[in-house]
Amino acid sequence: MTLPYVLPALLADPKPTEGVTVLVNARLFCGTGAPVKDDATVMIRDGYISGESAPRDARVIDLGRRFLMPGLIDVHTHLAEQPEIEIVEGMEPLRPGVKGHLVAAVAQRALRMGITTVRDVGARGDTVLEVRQAMRYGAFIGPRILACGRIVSATSPGGHHFEDMYREADGPDEMRKAAREQLRRGADFVKIMMTGARSVELENPGPAQVTREEVAALVDEVHRQGYRVAAHCEGLEGTVLAIEEGVDTIEHGFYLHERPDLLEELAARGGVLVPTLSFLADVAEQRHDNWSKHLVERGVYNVEQAGKTLRAAIEVGVPIAMGFDSKPEEEAASELKLMVDAGMSPNDALVAATSTGAMALGLNNLIGTVETGKLADLIVVDGDPLEDIGVLVDPDRIHLVFRGGTIVAGTAKTPNI
Ligand SMILES: [Zn+2]
Repeated sequence: MTLPYVLPALLADPKPTEGVTVLVNARLFCGTGAPVKDDATVMIRDGYISGESAPRDARVIDLGRRFLMPGLIDVHTHLAEQPEIEIVEGMEPLRPGVKGHLVAAVAQRALRMGITTVRDVGARGDTVLEVRQAMRYGAFIGPRILACGRIVSATSPGGHHFEDMYREADGPDEMRKAAREQLRRGADFVKIMMTGARSVELENPGPAQVTREEVAALVDEVHRQGYRVAAHCEGLEGTVLAIEEGVDTIEHGFYLHERPDLLEELAARGGVLVPTLSFLADVAEQRHDNWSKHLVERGVYNVEQAGKTLRAAIEVGVPIAMGFDSKPEEEAASELKLMVDAGMSPNDALVAATSTGAMALGLNNLIGTVETGKLADLIVVDGDPLEDIGVLVDPDRIHLVFRGGTIVAGTAKTPNI
């Protein structure tokens, strides 16, 4: 028997709380998509959901008919891009060590909103890895962070634009090396740019930016070592290569509605689509950043395309995960509202934020549903997200947040954070 390998992200998990806690009187959304169960009881033993009967001395928490569901999973974030600090002329320059504190604060605010796992799909420098290591050594409790290190891309304008966020590589051998470098750095998965980005004016997101041989080498190397591949895909040519060469998640994929056959192939391979509607809306509506006119026009067009793709993907049965790709991270669940507005049912939106998110990360044996044997990463919500998905972005409605069976945040936690 070989022991399972533990992803670096899981090494930073807090130690599960020992003992038994029984949650009673819950309206349970278990994350699989099954209907809500009223008057449900969930037992947590040593941090995991247990199917056994509770001992007499168990701690009992009456949830008062509140909504109990798995912790939220955001599979597309850039944590290190989030702190918004404006240093104006005359102010003390930001000291190099401060960035990690600012990113840690972003992570803690996200946890407070019930986001218990995030997948960081690209950061400048190593701040995200530093923040994760700080959690490992007990500095604070935040969401579980899966990191990719640098994004692997061909030599490209994007590589110039996002200088220390990309690792440019050309040719199959260098792709393999670039992937290995990320694992050396402590990555949990590897991300590749299949096409240019809609956030870089000098880039044409249409054609594939890498060759079939290049992506094949990277996927082979990463899969051979037991990790997963996320692929940034805009234009269809790069998206086709990504799906055919077996990447695990398609990030963005706005134009896939033009190729239902490819959506079918993605579904058949167990791949996951991450539509990232929020970022598109941000650019189209000029939120957060002052985008160039050209990129705003592209953003408006992409919002429409991404909506069509979401509906086509639902039709074909492609697994869809929640990826916010915007800021602030604590509002990641607002992506669910956009998904619902674009035609997804609220029930499916909650599945996207829980079990399909776990599937995208390859962690569906551990998190994403409230089932026996899963880690007790749970949230208790005041209100019904199936009626009004907006309650998930209202801090007053996040009653309790559990990480591995421990209450770590929420309005009912004392002292509240
Ligand atoms: Zn992104």
